[in-house]
Amino acid sequence: MPYNQPVTSPASILKDTFGYDTFRPHQREVIENVLARRDTLAVMPTGGGKSLCYQIPALLFGGLTVVVSPLIALMKDQVEQLRAAGVPALFLNSTLSTETYAAGMEHIRRGEAKLLYVAPETLLTPRIFGLLDALQLDLLTIDEAHCISEWGHDFRPEYRQLVEVRRRYPRAVCLALTATATPRVRQDITRSLGFAKSNEFVASFNRENLYIEVAPKTDALQQTMRFLRRFKDQSGIIYCFSRRQVDELADSLAAKGFSVLPYHAGLEDHERHRNQKAFIRDDVQIMVATIAFGMGINKPNVRFVLHYDLPKSLEGYYQEIGRAGRDGLPAHCLLLYSYADAAKLKYFISQKSGEERRVAQQHLDTMVDYAEDQSNCRRTPLLTYFGEKYPPAGAETTKCNNCDNCTSTPPVLENITLPAQKFLSCVRRTGEKFGAGHVIDVLRGSRAEKVLRHEHDQLSTYGIGADLTEKQWMHLARQMLQQGYVRQEGEFNTLSLTEKALEALRKRAPILGQMQEVEERPRNKAARQTEQEYNHALFALLRQKRKELADEAGVPPYVIFSDKTLVEMAAFYPQSADSLLNISGVGQVKARQYGEAFLVIITAYCQKKGLPEQQSKTTRRTKSDEGRRYVAVGEAYNAGATLAALMEQYAVAAGTIIDHLARYIAAGNRLRAGTDFESLISCSPAQQQAALQAFKELGTAFIKPVFDRLNGSVTYDDLKTLRLIYLSRSS
Ligand code: ADP
Ligand code: ZN
Repeated sequence: MPYNQPVTSPASILKDTFGYDTFRPHQREVIENVLARRDTLAVMPTGGGKSLCYQIPALLFGGLTVVVSPLIALMKDQVEQLRAAGVPALFLNSTLSTETYAAGMEHIRRGEAKLLYVAPETLLTPRIFGLLDALQLDLLTIDEAHCISEWGHDFRPEYRQLVEVRRRYPRAVCLALTATATPRVRQDITRSLGFAKSNEFVASFNRENLYIEVAPKTDALQQTMRFLRRFKDQSGIIYCFSRRQVDELADSLAAKGFSVLPYHAGLEDHERHRNQKAFIRDDVQIMVATIAFGMGINKPNVRFVLHYDLPKSLEGYYQEIGRAGRDGLPAHCLLLYSYADAAKLKYFISQKSGEERRVAQQHLDTMVDYAEDQSNCRRTPLLTYFGEKYPPAGAETTKCNNCDNCTSTPPVLENITLPAQKFLSCVRRTGEKFGAGHVIDVLRGSRAEKVLRHEHDQLSTYGIGADLTEKQWMHLARQMLQQGYVRQEGEFNTLSLTEKALEALRKRAPILGQMQEVEERPRNKAARQTEQEYNHALFALLRQKRKELADEAGVPPYVIFSDKTLVEMAAFYPQSADSLLNISGVGQVKARQYGEAFLVIITAYCQKKGLPEQQSKTTRRTKSDEGRRYVAVGEAYNAGATLAALMEQYAVAAGTIIDHLARYIAAGNRLRAGTDFESLISCSPAQQQAALQAFKELGTAFIKPVFDRLNGSVTYDDLKTLRLIYLSRSS
């Protein structure tokens, strides 16, 4: 039976078939252009939503849409996703058996599919030409269109011949899509495909939902484990420099109980495929990989990308972190940087010659500049590199508020002369022959075998640093290195004093730096705050159901529903088929096929916990509505809900509740008197008084002036709480 789509509009297909309310930037324009049969080049970042740009027209055209894709693994994935949404699509490539291939051809011949995915070499065969000759081809989509250009990073000669297809089917409009194209490559694409009157759309490459962070690499394994613990049950990728490193790290993490598998070109084909599949299907949480991993991965719910080693170029780095957060939910990208890694790469580069060496060196320099920059927004160099101005002209602020440099509070420098002198003296007394670890052992009076063997327990500096923890000393050691008081050399990272240190010791010159607090405060508050508020327990139940359904159907979980869809379910508790259709990513077909299974879980959970359905979606997305949450929180608090109860109900940290309540007051409401918040404060009563006084004098609109007034002695978290106390007393 030929598939007949009733006459309808792009917006209604977006909603009914794909379950989305609004178009992403440029999607609508691209779709309208294609429908007007004007050849189109669309350049959009990964996760920008390129697929809908041809999938929606495909459903509106009477004839067939052919999608040329070089990535065989992705074809299957796309087709599975389309079928789950009720769209008849299929793919033809060399991996299919003769029978399946023939059956596919037959379906197409009978007009039973709207979309046909093919590899370029398949398309260019007489067999497929014969098939298409007898049909109406309306849209020819070229995915990964940069492959057509020798100037691109992934040139494929077959792509050059696609112009033959254009000549043969002049009636079909052509849509070229890519995520990477310099102006030169763009020109190459339109020229090679014989575009005449065409239009180009270039979307911003800024991926707002990615939190971008660079951290000094100190103890990479420990840092990695600490990072991973924040992403319980969530998917992520760790990129390493070498195959060996991948294997070692995967082993170490597995030994610590993390759910990891390795991926690199040195593994047997079947093993590589198996590991990749396990990752895609959420059977394993973390992929430790070389950069060989990622092309051809469409997984939308990658929550983090960790660079364990320094990438070779900014371009590669941006592509790799771009694999996180395709679903638009917050994702975290962390790069662990050490100068030693840069030096290692430098060494590799020095083995090369000529132009290759020059280019590689240039890439590395740009990368190092990026990693060492501690003041500018991370997005500025990244986007500038891709020819985009950031912050965009007319922006109100230069900060993105979603990278480490934009969210960190400027370091407050303290006088650290005394501990610094102790450290430097101890480096000297131990003969400038040891690394920081040993020096610190001596300072802290350790009975380690190595200390005793060298009789370092006899030194005058032995045990004079027992007042600080090992971590605090490490932090100080790094600053000594960064500030040029010591240098680090050789295989064992031996420390020795510089002229600057000798002079400082001689003159007893003051040394400024940062003292680490004993309790490490969780970093990157901003990233936590952008997290959606949803019921994590319910989410876990829904996720489990999704996995069951996916395994039954033999598809990746995201084919059933994206994380974003489950997050919305766990935030708005839809309890009827109608409200389910209001959830992002739930179209008609999916609602019919899977709706029941999820509704049962949501309803049962909500009944048990006495949770009502939350307000309808149509109003929910607006800014004013986001604000509604603070009203709900404020009202619940005034009605007697405790801070702990609110944290539980909304599954958020205390800080988020504090923020809501502060907004509630700022909107002119009063808050009931209570002592709930005092337990959250960690500073002394005197500091509290000083802070309250500062709010009185400086106003409560901003925290920073008060923070500065108190010389950074009271943390931001405390100040937020104190501001709320101040406001609730004076309101
Ligand atoms: P790209 O091919 O550009 O990397 P995709 O087409 O795979 O991006 O889309 C990325 C994700 O965003 C997919 O999960 C897709 O379903 C989702 N998506 C696309 N368009 C929209 C939209 N308008 N609203 C919400 N989600 C969308
Ligand atoms: Zn920024």
